[in-house]
Amino acid sequence: MAGQLWDEGNLPSPLQELRDERLGTVRVLLKRDDLIHPEIVGNKWRKLRYLLPEVVASGATTMLTFGGAYSNHVRAVAVAGRRAGLRTIGVIRGDERPMNAVLAAAVADGMRLRYLDRVTYRRRDDPATLRALRRELGAFYLVPEGGTTVYAVRGCAEIVAEIATPFDIVLCAVGTGGTLAGLAAGLPAGRRAIGVSVLRGAHSLDNDVAELQRSALGERRGEWIVDHRFHHGGFARASPELDAFLVDFERRHRLVLDHVYVGKLMFALFAMVAAGEIPPGSVAVAVVTGPVSGAARSNRHSPDLMV
Ligand SMILES: *Cc1c(COP(=O)(O)O)cnc(C)c1O
Repeated sequence: MAGQLWDEGNLPSPLQELRDERLGTVRVLLKRDDLIHPEIVGNKWRKLRYLLPEVVASGATTMLTFGGAYSNHVRAVAVAGRRAGLRTIGVIRGDERPMNAVLAAAVADGMRLRYLDRVTYRRRDDPATLRALRRELGAFYLVPEGGTTVYAVRGCAEIVAEIATPFDIVLCAVGTGGTLAGLAAGLPAGRRAIGVSVLRGAHSLDNDVAELQRSALGERRGEWIVDHRFHHGGFARASPELDAFLVDFERRHRLVLDHVYVGKLMFALFAMVAAGEIPPGSVAVAVVTGPVSGAARSNRHSPDLMV
């Protein structure tokens, strides 16, 4: 059944070497999850893969989820719902109008939007808030913000299983922590995962990731940390250093990274290499969780980039 309602996408996602003299003897491999699916961005595809059959099996006809106005997750749920024949409702933080391209695409996929003021949004998981939403909008299957569920942990654990080349460290950007929880859960002994938080001072993430692993797997699993140094001012904020890094990165690699997630991850990776925190001679895998544009996209079948 999952095969029909779920588009299997391109698996395994390609692993590409990033050649950059600043890395010295550190080998960096990009795990191009952005190339899995044209409409459902990388890690959101992984996170929904095993959730969607659960939603259908529950008999629900509507999925409701939460997100910011530029949420890749909200957009992913709209696409997944359309494909599975489920109605979708996106509850959006704040009141951002006119509608941006992300939300317009979600609406084009049939999603109904409901804006929620920021104060109530913070209490989105409270029973009273959910009761009020059910009264207003009818019954729904609740998909948490970011799609972060025990099924996401299972889906993201498969990232590591797909990496055929031996590596020492795997890194990803962290929003809600679902991707890191899965990534770390799939790690073989002796490897470690570093999650780069894109939020300012979100120290509760450490506990969130551990809790998520406990509910999905019964225990904390894998050697992992959340690094809180590279938020550049907070979610969707940028610093002059980040901007300069990304302009330079585009010039060197013809890859346009987003400022929100993958750009901050890559900045962090280069900083860690420069500081010797990722020791010379190691192999580091950076998970490209979301959209990248640029010439290398068309190189996915080019043998010199594949490893
Ligand atoms: C949502 C998102 C993340 C954050 O993933 P979490 O599992 O919430 O930590 C990272 N990268 C991209 C591109 C995303 O869209």
